[in-house]
Amino acid sequence: MLINLSDILSQDGKEMQVQATLEMDKFHTFDGDYEFAGKQPVELHLMNQGKKQLLVEAKTKLSIWIPCARCLEPVKTSFHIQCEYEIDMSQSEEDRIENLDENNFIKENSLDVEQLIYNEILVRWPMRVLCKDDCQGICSHCGKNLNKGTCNCETRELDPRMAAISDIFSKFKEV
Ligand SMILES: [Zn+2]
Ligand SMILES: [Zn+2]
Repeated sequence: MLINLSDILSQDGKEMQVQATLEMDKFHTFDGDYEFAGKQPVELHLMNQGKKQLLVEAKTKLSIWIPCARCLEPVKTSFHIQCEYEIDMSQSEEDRIENLDENNFIKENSLDVEQLIYNEILVRWPMRVLCKDDCQGICSHCGKNLNKGTCNCETRELDPRMAAISDIFSKFKEV
């Protein structure tokens, strides 16, 4: 959704309250698309603070399905977005882009709500999502989700490592 800013910029002190529905139904990133699990409307508060200084406040709650880093099961991940920007509308668009490229949600005389919220999700994107702290992951041989039970794959190759670890522990105990 694009919000036309001409009206609010025409008069100092003018305020605007807008509720916008997010149109994006997937979150596109360089490594793939993620489905939204839930979207609340975006509550926007805009204010012309005089001298072409525009205050933008936005608030919403969203959730996106992100695969667990170990077992790849989708995990409903919540994003609580609350942000505030002061934008100098007396600058040309090129100046604004140079000064703060996070303000790329201002396009000429419009505010691009999709772009604003996209940026906010991106900066909050988690490094790693786990379905639970002790997720067992998937078997590297058969791909079975080990949270749902064990598989019949040969696990002997793990034994030397396990033995090494128990060696270390027993050494610690001796000290
Ligand atoms: Zn998992
Ligand atoms: Zn297996």
